[in-house]
Amino acid sequence: MEIKKGIAVSPGISIAKCLIMDSEEYRIPKRTIKPSQRMLEVQRARNAFRNAIDQLTDLNASQSDFADKNIKDIFAVHLRFLKDRSLRKQITDFIYSESVTAEYAVSTILREIASHFTKVKDTYISERAADIYDIERRILTQLLGNKREAIGNLTEEVVVVARELSPTQTAGFDKTFVKGLATDAGGRTSHTAIVARSLGIPAVVALEDFTEIVTGGDTVIIDGNRGIVILNPDESTIEQYQQFSQEFLALEHKLDALREKPAITRDGVQIKMLGNIEFPEEAALVLEKGGDGIGLYRTEFLYLNSETEPTEEDHYKAYAETIKVFKHRPVTIRTLDLGADKYTQSRRLAPEPNPFLGLRSIRFCLQNLTIFKTQLHAILRASVLGNVKVMFPLITNLQEMMQAKMIFRDVMEDLDEEGVQYNRDIEVGIMVETPSAALVAASLARDSDFFSIGTNDLTQYTLAVDRGNERVSTLYSAVDPAVLRLIRTVVQDAHKARIDLSICGEMASEPDNIMLILGMGVRTLSLAHPMIPEIKQIIRSVTIEDCNRVARKVLTMNAERHISSYLRDATRKIIPEAF
Ligand code: PEP
Ligand code: MG
Repeated sequence: MEIKKGIAVSPGISIAKCLIMDSEEYRIPKRTIKPSQRMLEVQRARNAFRNAIDQLTDLNASQSDFADKNIKDIFAVHLRFLKDRSLRKQITDFIYSESVTAEYAVSTILREIASHFTKVKDTYISERAADIYDIERRILTQLLGNKREAIGNLTEEVVVVARELSPTQTAGFDKTFVKGLATDAGGRTSHTAIVARSLGIPAVVALEDFTEIVTGGDTVIIDGNRGIVILNPDESTIEQYQQFSQEFLALEHKLDALREKPAITRDGVQIKMLGNIEFPEEAALVLEKGGDGIGLYRTEFLYLNSETEPTEEDHYKAYAETIKVFKHRPVTIRTLDLGADKYTQSRRLAPEPNPFLGLRSIRFCLQNLTIFKTQLHAILRASVLGNVKVMFPLITNLQEMMQAKMIFRDVMEDLDEEGVQYNRDIEVGIMVETPSAALVAASLARDSDFFSIGTNDLTQYTLAVDRGNERVSTLYSAVDPAVLRLIRTVVQDAHKARIDLSICGEMASEPDNIMLILGMGVRTLSLAHPMIPEIKQIIRSVTIEDCNRVARKVLTMNAERHISSYLRDATRKIIPEAF
């Protein structure tokens, strides 16, 4: 049994056999084996080669006579390579001399060969490196069983273990079978963590080297409440965790009873609780958990889940489905936040050196007007179906916001010409998630109907800490004094301009932060649906007077460490049962 500590990003407990997913760029970790296991690994490698040959032979036979001759040629080359005795001998020798797993030996030897090919000047030969990688992939698929490819065809419950997962991979998981996630990389507000939370899959990230000690099929406990994973737990630990899991579900059930109760403080101040969603199907879950509408619809997930570019109709259908759930309650549609860790890097020909500082979000839309206008067209058409608001992400200055609004007006004019109905008074707001926007919030407020503070990015950009990088995750905190000063500025400027203000970053779903947030004058929160009941319970347990006192004190403090421990204590005093 081995216990690893990471960062808890999605609550809940799961116990299941693990399935390792490795991205293609990621090397198979070196795992040494006992000398007595070497025979077994050699046999595994042999079987993998044999199965790969059978698979390729079948594939070749299934090609029609008219199939592209190039494809047949490629199969022939791959087959010849797989049948090469000297290659297999090299792999066997490596397993014996280094006492390593079959997958490590296969990957190392084949990559060595590929790298020799790459160095050859003749392009025909250097391009053969891609064939070697393909062959490597084929054999590893055999060795890793269904770990790599069958994620879409699961028939039993698993916890997925990976070095890292993209938001797209995570969004594609079938919740019925994927019961938990554990990754070596990642941070609390990485998009993968956000998606796991939305799907309600317990997850722990930033485990550093977990993939190096785990083997497919090992039993793993994921404790998404405490940020712990336990590898090959003993019987008594499993029993203990089954008990924790039941207690957690009972607590969730109890909190669900708050659904009908208002989010109102003990001294009678009403707080609006909205939901963050990535997919229209989540809208019903937000309602079920007692949400008053949608404060952040991350529409870029329309792109992430599809191989082809969404059409205007795809956009419209997704928005209409969401709006239908909330009727006249607000649905805030954020325009595409593509870029950074979402979509563009994997699909672009030339990846950016600093994608989080690159062509991301509103910048991407302003340079890809067809994509942007298609979305705005769909949002405006959907605006007659309910209470729709539109929100631009990652605004950094006034000019950018005015440019986005101008394009929005152009699309309105197009709709006028086409005689299509839309809501002319639709509210248009922005996300304040860059330090520059926070610092010029007063001027942005003059032309915005509302602000939503995106603390995930605001923290990342203020502190210069990558929100998804586990190596700097201890430096990432939304309650760092620098971030709090910016939030205070934004709240004050929004109040002065009398525009609505909400917080939609993960900060608003952390129980310890709620008193501070309310004390800073925020009255609307938008968060992932699984967290709504717990946060509502906190709201119902505090008075605004308590919250004001907490915020006043925190804003005099200079060290993040002191702030977070003060907030923990303050919350614990008010609702000890939550801990
Ligand atoms: C944020 O940055 O706080 C936010 C809510 O947007 P996202 O997490 O999608 O970047
Ligand atoms: Mg953001």
